[in-house]
Amino acid sequence: MNMNLSAIAMEELPASTENNHKPQAAMLLEVSQLTKNYGSFQALRGISFDMRQGEIISVLGPSGCGKSTLLQLVAGLASPDEGHIKLDGRVIASNKNMLPPEKRGVNMVFQDYALWPHMNVTENIVYGLRRQRMDRGDIEQRLTELLELLHLEGLEHRLPPQLSGGQQQRVAIARALATRPNLMLLDEPLSNLDMRLRVEMRTEMAYLFRKLGISVFHVTHDPDEAFAMADRLLILRAGGIDQFGTSQQCYSKPASRWAASLLGAINGLRGTFVHTPQGAAIRMGEQVLHGITPNVDETFIEGSEVILMFRPEEATILHDVSAETGNALQAVVLHCTFEGMRWRSVVQTQEGQKQKLYVLHEEPLSPGDRIAVRLRSSSAFIYNFEEER
Ligand code: ATP
Repeated sequence: MNMNLSAIAMEELPASTENNHKPQAAMLLEVSQLTKNYGSFQALRGISFDMRQGEIISVLGPSGCGKSTLLQLVAGLASPDEGHIKLDGRVIASNKNMLPPEKRGVNMVFQDYALWPHMNVTENIVYGLRRQRMDRGDIEQRLTELLELLHLEGLEHRLPPQLSGGQQQRVAIARALATRPNLMLLDEPLSNLDMRLRVEMRTEMAYLFRKLGISVFHVTHDPDEAFAMADRLLILRAGGIDQFGTSQQCYSKPASRWAASLLGAINGLRGTFVHTPQGAAIRMGEQVLHGITPNVDETFIEGSEVILMFRPEEATILHDVSAETGNALQAVVLHCTFEGMRWRSVVQTQEGQKQKLYVLHEEPLSPGDRIAVRLRSSSAFIYNFEEER
């Protein structure tokens, strides 16, 4: 990476941070049949995936699914029981062969930043460069670039306890970037920041890494952070891969009922799958929902029990219940709360099994109001109800 870092700091943010998945780029990381056991407990169950140069991959999953274990194996802080990891075509980890962490060309940003508390900002950032015995003039130049890039000018002589959480986080990123690693590992890097700063930093980090062409392997339990950062999502569930795809693919077609719920489709409507003259549909009591078939395939059998998942923001509230047919359900409002920009209501459907749904809307509703909930056909997902949750 011979790019002038300060030139990048001066540029304007682009209107959008585009997906950067490059199937043609050279292979960077190849993980094959990776297994990690803690005693009799299998934390990683033979997982395989790959990562290209310059990609940002976010590993997403709930607490205990194996995210940190995977990151530690890539970093070299733990060894696998089976399978292997290749970096730049070379095996760096297997149960026979372990390259030490410092020889992998991999730098990590930890959840608690792990800055040296007795070293000031400058000393923290240049620590790795001094260890590499870089020329003093080159260190000065790299430091100046990084201070500007991470907006740390003026803070050079402060110790970590004299910095805010966001500033400490920037120092940790600057320190990790300083030695220009092949791969950056980020372990829940924003979890100690307040919400406003988290949103700001995830946008800035994604922009920065893409501009620098840095390959990033990032772990989080926060879907919003994963979507803001990632080119591809690796969704981990109980030590296995539930889905691996571009963030757009995962968002628009979650691989399972479990992934749909993790990615915000928290509403589930049970019904029976039926074929009608207008195409595939779901029957709930007397009502038939049409046109909600984006992920319908041959695995759905006429009469089988299915569940339809959708996000609260993908439904529209209609007040004229009599006028609506098609892909709308009649419901009664149970309660409604103000969330700042919008209102959130819990409503109960009137057909079939009287199921509870969450919906977001612009105007307040009152308990007892009769409404119709219209689903956006392209944003609802159907799964076999019996599928493991
Ligand atoms: P979190 O988001 O809470 O950090 P995680 O997805 O990173 O969770 P891991 O820390 O990788 O999960 O842990 C995966 C599983 O392995 C968990 O069930 C955890 O209890 C178990 N585990 C992790 N480390 C050890 C250990 N040293 N000994 C025994 N079990 C462990």
